[in-house]
Amino acid sequence: FAEGGITWRLLNVCPEMGSWTAVFDCAAGSSFATHIHTGPGEYFLYKGKMDIRGGEQNGGETARAPGYGFEASSARHDRTNFPVDSAFYMTFLGPLAFLDEKGSVIANVGWFEAQEAWNAFLEQSGQAKKASAA
Ligand code: ZN
Repeated sequence: FAEGGITWRLLNVCPEMGSWTAVFDCAAGSSFATHIHTGPGEYFLYKGKMDIRGGEQNGGETARAPGYGFEASSARHDRTNFPVDSAFYMTFLGPLAFLDEKGSVIANVGWFEAQEAWNAFLEQSGQAKKASAA
C-alpha cells in the first residue's frame, strides 16, 4: 500500500473508538497507494513535505513541516507523495480503504489490521510483548 520506502510504528489503538495512531517515516520519492479515509483523521507533519492529491502544483494540497492537517471522513487520496524525506504522526478514526485502478476496495486497514501487522513485525524482530497497544 506504499512504495519507495515508508516505515511506520504503531503507537496506540483504541478498539472502542475504532482509532489508531502511528508515526510514518517517508523517504524522498515515496508514496501511498490510492485510498479513502473511511473516517476522519488528524496529522502533524514534523519533517519534510507531503503532496496530497498531487500537491499544489497539480491542484491538490502541499503540507509543509511543521504543519497540522485534518482529513475529512470520505476524503479520497489518489496520490500522496513525499518529494523529500518526511515524517508525520497521525490518528485515524476508522480504516483506510485502499482502492485498485477501477476504484474497488482491495483492503481495509484499520486498528485491527494495523495491530496485527505491528505485532507480526515485533515478533519477527524479537521485540514481542515489549510494546503494548491498548
Ligand atoms: Zn490520505
